[in-house]
Amino acid sequence: MQRRRFLGLVGAAGVSLAASGKAKAASKEFSGYPGSHAVLFDATRCIGCRKCEAGCQKVNDLPMPEKPFDDLSVLDQKRRTHAENFTVVNKYDVGQQAPVFRKFQCNHCLEPACASACFVKAFKKQPTGAVTYDASVCVGCRYCMVACPFEVPTYEYNEVLTPRVRKCHMCHERQLEGKLPGCVEACPKEALTFGTRDEILKVARARIRNYPGRYLDHVYGEKEMGGTSWLYLSGVPFKKIGMREDLGTTSAPHLTTGALAAVPMVVGLWPVVLGGIWAVNKRKEKIAAEEQKAAVNSAVSETQEKAQQEMADALAKAEASTQRRIDNEVKKAVDEALKAKEEEAQSQAEDGKTDEEGA
Ligand code: SF4
Ligand code: SF4
Repeated sequence: MQRRRFLGLVGAAGVSLAASGKAKAASKEFSGYPGSHAVLFDATRCIGCRKCEAGCQKVNDLPMPEKPFDDLSVLDQKRRTHAENFTVVNKYDVGQQAPVFRKFQCNHCLEPACASACFVKAFKKQPTGAVTYDASVCVGCRYCMVACPFEVPTYEYNEVLTPRVRKCHMCHERQLEGKLPGCVEACPKEALTFGTRDEILKVARARIRNYPGRYLDHVYGEKEMGGTSWLYLSGVPFKKIGMREDLGTTSAPHLTTGALAAVPMVVGLWPVVLGGIWAVNKRKEKIAAEEQKAAVNSAVSETQEKAQQEMADALAKAEASTQRRIDNEVKKAVDEALKAKEEEAQSQAEDGKTDEEGA
């Protein structure tokens, strides 16, 4: 059994334990749900094959990209995630013989900034470790996008009526079914390892200990922003592979609380501003729904009018044709009667002539 898969199974068993755990996201001492999952990305193993991108696209039923996944020319540009693409792999020339590749997706923070900024609680840190998003309560204010220090959430700008925030959800539903996230399952190089966060940290530290020349002595995500459920190993400074090293170890909600407390007026205005945005968005939705209803009603009455007109025309046509048939029948009957009368008169005349000749 592959180590990667083994950790996956251990992790799946841990979820039920986690569900009964008492820890809650954004509490003062929150360090993750007990038994929650994590994924380790090892940049020294990644070959930039994009199989993880394809795996993600497949399990999330996302549309195929313009350039197919086996076209590696896309790696020549730095890409970021967007509404139809929850993960991307980028290539970094770090001055070594070979380039280094790094996968980019939501880091599933232990105390997520997106969740703390969302006043309708559309984001939730789940006991699996995933940070999920509920589009049904989202009001479209996009504060989550501003708040995320990793610039992860994206928005469906092309959707006019019901745009959603989009991001990796760590295959939360698949995890509940005991399955691996799509990207982890697809990686042919075991650059991605899934398991409980505690187990994954042990694996990461063991690799550093066993191969000190290969890895930096740093598990990125263990402490950054209060800790994340995606953890990273690299042989080159994380900054060189596009990762922020200036974030510190304080979680976003704690930072935000401190910053806002220093500006009491902003604290007071926060719900007012967000409430205003919510109201505007709700009003827009209501107007859109009313416009849609009016359009449907008008289409229905137009169709009804047309059908009634067609029916009246057909009836008129039918009446005219019936009348023509009756007229024809009457004319035919009259003609036949006249003809019979004529024949009778002619026969009587011929009979009279014969009688005269006989006399
Ligand atoms: S990386 Fe950004 S979107 Fe993902 S959980 Fe953290 S704050 Fe939220
Ligand atoms: S599938 Fe694995 S090796 Fe290939 S790009 Fe993704 S993480 Fe790297």
